[in-house]
Amino acid sequence: MTKIPQVRNLVTAIPGPKSQAILTRRAEAVSSALGMAMPVIVDRAGGGIIIDVDGNSIIDMGAGIAVVNVGNSADRVVANVQAQVEAFTHTCFMVVPYLGYIEVCEALNRLTPGKHKKKSILLNSGAEALENAVKIARSYTKRQAVVVFEHGYHGRTNLTMSMTAKNMPYKEGFGPFAPEVYRMPMAYPLRWPGGAHACAEQALELVIHKMEKEIGGKNIAAIVIEPIQGEGGFIVPPKGFLPGLSKYATENGIVFIADEVQTGFARTGQMFASEDEGVTPDLIATAKGIAGGLPLAGVTGRAEIMDSVHGGGLGGTYGGSPIACAAALGAIATIEEENLCARAAEIGAIMSSALHAMAKKYSIIGEVRGRGAMQAIELVMPGTLEPNPQALAAIIKFCQGKGVLILSAGTYGNVIRLLPPLVIPENLLHEALDILDQAIGSISS
Ligand SMILES: *Cc1c(COP(=O)(O)O)cnc(C)c1O
Repeated sequence: MTKIPQVRNLVTAIPGPKSQAILTRRAEAVSSALGMAMPVIVDRAGGGIIIDVDGNSIIDMGAGIAVVNVGNSADRVVANVQAQVEAFTHTCFMVVPYLGYIEVCEALNRLTPGKHKKKSILLNSGAEALENAVKIARSYTKRQAVVVFEHGYHGRTNLTMSMTAKNMPYKEGFGPFAPEVYRMPMAYPLRWPGGAHACAEQALELVIHKMEKEIGGKNIAAIVIEPIQGEGGFIVPPKGFLPGLSKYATENGIVFIADEVQTGFARTGQMFASEDEGVTPDLIATAKGIAGGLPLAGVTGRAEIMDSVHGGGLGGTYGGSPIACAAALGAIATIEEENLCARAAEIGAIMSSALHAMAKKYSIIGEVRGRGAMQAIELVMPGTLEPNPQALAAIIKFCQGKGVLILSAGTYGNVIRLLPPLVIPENLLHEALDILDQAIGSISS
């Protein structure tokens, strides 16, 4: 267990003087293009707590954007990384292979949905995993078109930026974008013109119609979708939408790619969110939660697809670094041995009931949604669907002032997303939710 005391405790204002001094250096040394969710400098972190350089203990409701699902510096991750660093730090898997890489691939092949024969490759980031998944799908199908969705987020490289929906801040001024990327309407129940009840059926029909008429099914290499959209605001497609897309893909020789970078590794109460409706992706892209905070990503899928690329066609200097692989084996063991899938479901039930209680009290909450330890509220102008980003900013600021780190999301900048580490003590979770309740109360009159 973490040595970090699991209590919220503020000893200075946020940010304190030591954080402020370092943030001044940050402003001098680091490009101003990088965002910052909370203006403090971290010193140590573990469990559900981040301690800053002034000694403030902050409740972590973001897990580094769903990365430290097993907690910061989790015991098995630390032990494995320490042993690996002493043994060797790098050979390049394509120069001299090592067991850790192979074991992570075996774990991915075992844990991802479907009992068919699977193979994997490892990479450094979520974006790189998506890039490679598309390369593999194009090579396998000998087709070019890639279908993505409104509100989708897939990364910041040229191809994945092109696949990402939102212009500001991800795309503004960064064109030209990659060709042959086609964006389809997303089944977003809250905002579906025909109403939430009709969303699954109408969205599926519309998307299939557009794919047929605007691209042609036989020209589509891949359909790429997040089973629950992350940056887009935790948009949960209604039941039937994902299975319908997957079925269309199969019938038309299209590779169905699940981007489980944010939803993977126990976050939603199952190892992967695709499992919820029994969807078996042809390829699945993973990253964030895979390695307890070390940079690692994977593409896993049907062996015949993964093996269809010519020898030497995939790879990279650092992809599947031995240290990141050691960390991943520690993180995966932690998830399995500590039953973190079940724990994510319990955390989700606590968050969901607290958020629904808030929604009854506060008319700026337009919707509570999510699955497992991935829950969000969408903020609106009372009585309408008009997005309320001003409320979001005020709520986050209030929470930060009380020592609770909460992340935002959403195309309209009006979604509060909760992604606590799955090892957060329950009292801290309740405390953070109470403070969120006070924050929303403070701006609702
Ligand atoms: C974060 C994220 C990515 C990109 O991952 P990076 O490691 O930041 O490149 C891709 N897809 C989804 C769904 C993500 O949440």
